Amino acid sequence: MSHVLVVSPERTPLAPCTQARARWLLTQKQAAVLRRYPFTLILLRKPSGTTVPPLRLKIDPGSRTTGLAIVNEASGEVIWAGELRHRGQQVTEALTKRRDCRRSRRQRHTRYRSQRFLNRRRRDGWLPPSLESRLANVLTWVARLQRWCPISMLSLELVKFDTQLLQNSEISGVAYQQGELAGYEIRQYLLEKFEHRCVCCGKSGIPLEIEHIIPTSRGGSDRVSNLTIACHACNQAKGNRTAAEFGHAKIHQLTKVPLRDTAAVSTTRWALYHHLEGCGPPLETGSGGRTKWNRTQRGLPKLHWVDAACVGASTPEHLRVGGVVCWTITATGRHARQMCRTNGCGFPDKAPKATSVVGGFRTGDLVRAVVPTNSKKAGTYLGRIAIRATGSCNIQTRNTTIQGIHYRYCQSVHRGDGYSYAETK
Ligand SMILES: [Zn+2]
Repeated sequence: MSHVLVVSPERTPLAPCTQARARWLLTQKQAAVLRRYPFTLILLRKPSGTTVPPLRLKIDPGSRTTGLAIVNEASGEVIWAGELRHRGQQVTEALTKRRDCRRSRRQRHTRYRSQRFLNRRRRDGWLPPSLESRLANVLTWVARLQRWCPISMLSLELVKFDTQLLQNSEISGVAYQQGELAGYEIRQYLLEKFEHRCVCCGKSGIPLEIEHIIPTSRGGSDRVSNLTIACHACNQAKGNRTAAEFGHAKIHQLTKVPLRDTAAVSTTRWALYHHLEGCGPPLETGSGGRTKWNRTQRGLPKLHWVDAACVGASTPEHLRVGGVVCWTITATGRHARQMCRTNGCGFPDKAPKATSVVGGFRTGDLVRAVVPTNSKKAGTYLGRIAIRATGSCNIQTRNTTIQGIHYRYCQSVHRGDGYSYAETK
């Protein structure tokens, strides 16, 4: 059952309480709402005696979604669950757009610019911005949850197989082909890539062998791009033929699909590990295999937060997941860097942004607007505000956008913090 996060009047995290108790605290005026998303209470008076249960925050990082779960080690109860949706793709698109703008500006030759070539240096541990964003999302939420919940242990799913053995984390890189990632790693990589199935007959759960798409006897290489996995029967039946001759031409295409998601996850997972290790609560790591085993053993559904709750050897024997409401936390970013809109040719055609704060509101804040009955737009609206310098703002509700609502009718519900929130049962 999902619990409500509670902090003391001095904002030290206390043991999360049940929803019934949270309601009681609010009706008795013993607590106030500290945050709407995720719902957190602040006690108004100092509690007399407090006991803190052994709470473990468990993380299952994914390329699109990261599962988070706080588990009470003593009772095996999942007391808080969340799914963090990343915006790696949006970051990539935004940077491509910025690069295009800058490139076009450079081509205009309006003044002398010394050439820039090979004069850039990347610091150690540099990550591509899309991965950096994933990493920052997770670190932000680990820090936030620690602020509202007395977490004493961490668990992190670290590896399925290790692309870090590659020098450059690029799966088609030279290091890979020259055999730095030998034997076991290649096998794990292939199993992952071909989803633990025989590429020919699609059977799973049987012993699988590494197989050459173009046989070595006919000039095929040992490169990973020429390798696939098949069951013993198919491997024997194929013999000296190529995959196409064996009637499986699609395998050639399959090998060309990059394993980008997995590479991204491995890189971010290790970066995450280095950030979480040594600072804060003790960190336990687990593998993807163990997570899956834990989940299947306990007969739990495949959800990101359930996977997170199953990470690592510390997973309680009886994991209680009933009645858990999962917070879907979507990274939205905060603002656009662009100062003024451009036309189709890339030239500025609107006035630069006048201000970013109006009446204390910023674009993206969640507000409740109560417009009096004598106004044309009378009504109550809940949604995200888009500020206008005139003071007459737009409110984006769930279904529509209402224009021309003055900020004096608005009341802040939740300050924009780079994420949007939803609850899923
Ligand atoms: Zn087969």
